[in-house]
Amino acid sequence: MEIRLVGVVGAGQMGNGIAHVFALAGYDVLMTDISEESLTKALQTIEKNLERQVSRGKVLAADKRAAMERIQTTLKLTDLGKCDLIIEAATERETVKQAIFEDLLPHLKPTTILTSNTSSISITRLASRTDRPEKFMGFHFMNPVPVMQLVELIRGIATDQETWDTLHEVVRKLGKTAASAEDFPAFIVNRILMPMINEAVYTLYEGVGSVKSIDESLKLGANHPMGPLELADFIGLDTCLAIMNVLHEGLADTKYRPCPLLTKYVEAGWLGRKTQRGFYDYRGEVPVPTR
Ligand code: NAD
Repeated sequence: MEIRLVGVVGAGQMGNGIAHVFALAGYDVLMTDISEESLTKALQTIEKNLERQVSRGKVLAADKRAAMERIQTTLKLTDLGKCDLIIEAATERETVKQAIFEDLLPHLKPTTILTSNTSSISITRLASRTDRPEKFMGFHFMNPVPVMQLVELIRGIATDQETWDTLHEVVRKLGKTAASAEDFPAFIVNRILMPMINEAVYTLYEGVGSVKSIDESLKLGANHPMGPLELADFIGLDTCLAIMNVLHEGLADTKYRPCPLLTKYVEAGWLGRKTQRGFYDYRGEVPVPTR
């Protein structure tokens, strides 16, 4: 099936990255959000990130201009009904995602493929509440989308081969690499990554190390490009907590219990870089550990 117009729901850090890579690959993009401010900020971020790619010689100035022209925004979710492919990248909460698909359904073309960029929520369950579970898939991009090579393709129980093949071809056109994952909590990347981040928070909570020593240990001792707490701030602590909750509930194993200190940061509204404070405080010139 040919994909021309791509709808992106949610213009946060993932939504803007997804719109960026699709527009650069020649797709027309229609992006929506409940917040006008998020849409304005997303367009500014895409422009800035494309400009960085131009200055590094990775993208031609003409291609940047063409990509920006391919991105339209709207505050009306139902405008996305005409899209060939919809990628939902809103807040990691099942009720939010479910409501988005419910509102979209009456306005869709029969051929529209529905996908979610969820980091952990059951694709089969989200799909079962739509009129097209066979045309529904997990389409999991990594952060930052313009930089990271991998896209996880998650097949729900009912997903048909044509839908999988179509998305696989889209990933190829984006110049990225697909990994195929089955639909179990948090799929592949976050099933492995998130318990490590959660364990780093426990290591802090139990006083084994400070924010600085934990991050330095993993960077210098395990050759990780970012420390786990720095990475948690980058992902968003609300998203990290939501994924741990899905692992804990979905696999019913206490080894996945979210660290109470992670919950505490989220309760404080210290969600990491996006709110300027998390395990580090980003309001000054350099990030300062908050513990
Ligand atoms: P974010 O908080 O940066 O952005 C979420 C956006 O969704 C916000 O702009 C918000 O206004 C919008 N939104 C909320 N409800 C909405 C609705 N009903 N309709 C339209 N827009 C709505 O979050 P994010 O980090 O971009 O994460 C988005 C999704 O991507 C989540 O499912 C998350 O699990 C997944 N994801 C995140 C990462 C990461 O590293 N942050 C990586 C891969 C996947």
